Amino acid sequence: MPLDDDAVSNSDWRGRLSTMDIPLAVSTDNVTLDCLETLIYEGRLTFEQGVKLMINPSLNSVTSLADMVKKARFHDYVFFNDNLHVNSTNVCVLACRFCAFRKGPRHPDAYSLDVDQYLERVRPYSSRIDEVHTVGGLHPTWTVAEYCELFSNLKDEFPHIHIKALTAVEIKHLSIRSSLSFSETLSRLSEAGLNSLPGGGAEILVDSVRDRICMGKESSDEYLDIHGVAHSLGIPTNCTMLFGTVESVEDRINHLLRLREQQDATSGFQCFVPYPFLPDKTRLPEAQLATGQEIIRMISVSRLMLDNIPHIKAYRMNIGDKLASYAINCGADDVDGTVGHEEIMHEAGSKTSLTTSSEQLARMVISSGATPVKRNSSYSQFEIISLPEENSSQVLPVITVEVP
Ligand code: SF4
Repeated sequence: MPLDDDAVSNSDWRGRLSTMDIPLAVSTDNVTLDCLETLIYEGRLTFEQGVKLMINPSLNSVTSLADMVKKARFHDYVFFNDNLHVNSTNVCVLACRFCAFRKGPRHPDAYSLDVDQYLERVRPYSSRIDEVHTVGGLHPTWTVAEYCELFSNLKDEFPHIHIKALTAVEIKHLSIRSSLSFSETLSRLSEAGLNSLPGGGAEILVDSVRDRICMGKESSDEYLDIHGVAHSLGIPTNCTMLFGTVESVEDRINHLLRLREQQDATSGFQCFVPYPFLPDKTRLPEAQLATGQEIIRMISVSRLMLDNIPHIKAYRMNIGDKLASYAINCGADDVDGTVGHEEIMHEAGSKTSLTTSSEQLARMVISSGATPVKRNSSYSQFEIISLPEENSSQVLPVITVEVP
């Protein structure tokens, strides 16, 4: 079944916003009413409005406004894809304080996949996925050549699979190890089969925060520069935010504004993925951690601030299926994919199921009152998923009580 054209192109969402019924929670709250008027008439929210949304006592008004904007853009559609995560190596020369994934080269659980092992991970899933998501540690000896070999062999055997791989800090590491510019590094990887970059590693794009949680990683400017270079080469990317460590509300809003500025300049971000710090087994005892309400608020505020990044993801691998299905009604339009295998969030404590099928994901979306749409990695092909009525939702029995 085809999607409405305006939802696919995401065009004229401000015009549609102006014609929608305004929920009471939005119209009776000065902050959200002001933001709605800004979005309809003036364009974009300011830093001050972003901070007000973050501290507004009425979470309901913030989520209701974000839901309006999401529906103005994409109606009740919620997107997901059939993908698989394959980490290339967990060996890393850095030791970011929030990271539970990295291992030193001599650690008994350290691994680095060769081409055969990499392909072996993909083969069991190859007929039902169309994307492999590959990130890993900063390997002390690998150069761009090792990744070109992984990607070209994957493409040779599975040409239908989109390769979304390597975060900005991995691109930086490979460019240094290979004595290449960012542009040369990305071009070589693209020629070998790389199709897009995930957004991982943005953490908080405020260098004083980065110095506390991930000293030695790429700077904020470098993160944005690498994504900008990718965009200029026609390589789309995602962007992320890791929140709930040591940052302030203002840092989070500045992060969103920096991404918005970058998108104005190079317009290659497809999707923004905000996710909270998961504390298990990691080394950041002073982290504030984020409550469920804060996670939902962060997704909603992201939808409202990032008027030029089309998709906002409720990343189920991190926040779990229950919060992800709630986030669908609070501004998120994407729940990521079937995933199949995931280490980074699960090493840090995630309990999200790794055996969720397309049908189960679709059912989760339907149970949240939305329409599930399977998408490809570049958000250019869509398929509305219909399920048999009896499977479409799980409802509690209703007992009617007669009042005398
Ligand atoms: S977050 Fe990435 S760069 Fe930092 S220690 Fe973990 S694997 Fe290494």
